[in-house]
Amino acid sequence: MTNAIELLGISKSYGSVQALNNIHLTINDGEFFSLLGPSGSGKTTCLKIIAGFEGSQEGHVKLFNEDVTLVPPYKRDLNTVFQDYALFPHMSVRSNIGYSLRIKKVNLEEQNKRIDEILETVKLIGYDLRKPSELSGGQRQRVALARSLINKPKVLLLDEPLGALDLKLREQMQIELKNLQRKFNITFIYVTHDQQEALSMSDRIAVFNNGRVEQIDTPHNIYNKPKTSFVADFIGITTIFPKEDASQFNITKSFSIRPEFISIQSSSSSSSKDFKIKAKVTDIQYQGSFNKIIFESSFRNSLSVFQNTNNNENISYKIDQEYILEFDKKDITLLDD
Ligand code: ADP
Ligand code: MG
Repeated sequence: MTNAIELLGISKSYGSVQALNNIHLTINDGEFFSLLGPSGSGKTTCLKIIAGFEGSQEGHVKLFNEDVTLVPPYKRDLNTVFQDYALFPHMSVRSNIGYSLRIKKVNLEEQNKRIDEILETVKLIGYDLRKPSELSGGQRQRVALARSLINKPKVLLLDEPLGALDLKLREQMQIELKNLQRKFNITFIYVTHDQQEALSMSDRIAVFNNGRVEQIDTPHNIYNKPKTSFVADFIGITTIFPKEDASQFNITKSFSIRPEFISIQSSSSSSSKDFKIKAKVTDIQYQGSFNKIIFESSFRNSLSVFQNTNNNENISYKIDQEYILEFDKKDITLLDD
């Protein structure tokens, strides 16, 4: 497998703020790789260092095994799509998309051919003479994509590219982006703070927290085998039992249990599950296809449990009523703090 990008011990500070702390990443050629983390965790800084818009105080960047740490952005074989699209407002869709071809003095016939091709790919045929202000948010996003794909870069960096779109359009664009990535066989490095988006689109994900990478793994492993409390908590819904509480179950590390593995029993249950916890309902949150029921127990974290809502035999749980929550040892995940 070819390495598209390698980050070797990248650290970056802005004054007293350490934005990145000793980042090591290897991204494969053709991979859809996401940088996922909360706001301020260092994702954009990391992307800018890969693109060359920012330098780092420590570490090296390699692009296809070549050290590009000191190579300026325009000489790196990659392209960036920014969150605000950065289109030229006075230029037509066509001129926006063809901009880099004009700079490179590609002949006119070739320019038009490539623009027509890419207009078809991003479904913008017929819109090519409009100005960006005459387009919807989703169409503008497609222009930005077309503009960055027209040079056939080997690597495309995308910083929260769907952040400005509403949910329905975002989900549609997620599918289109994934299809484009497959079709062009480009390495995508995709920044998002949306865990659902990262889980559904990526081959692998790096989870960022406070300038560090907490885990690099497949979506399946990030969800099912989180290594740290931060990752378990950031990805999906879970209940974490910190070390101090875990010791009451003879477990020496913190652990996490996902709602889908917890069953609710009346207080007279006699099942053989490994863990049984007496708990009181504090809130029932309707989520459409399921209810999220929040319980309080003598442990310090509240517990979330899901109840499918399209089951006719649904029990209606009552606020303040006590139940027994049960789960098996095989379904818990041990965590490093
Ligand atoms: P993210 O993209 O994950 O939201 P950023 O990479 O933008 O995070 O920022 C990481 C940290 O670095 C934050 O604390 C942010 O305030 C700080 N930071 C980013 N850019 C600058 C800058 N140009 N000057 C000063 N601090 C910055
Ligand atoms: Mg950012």
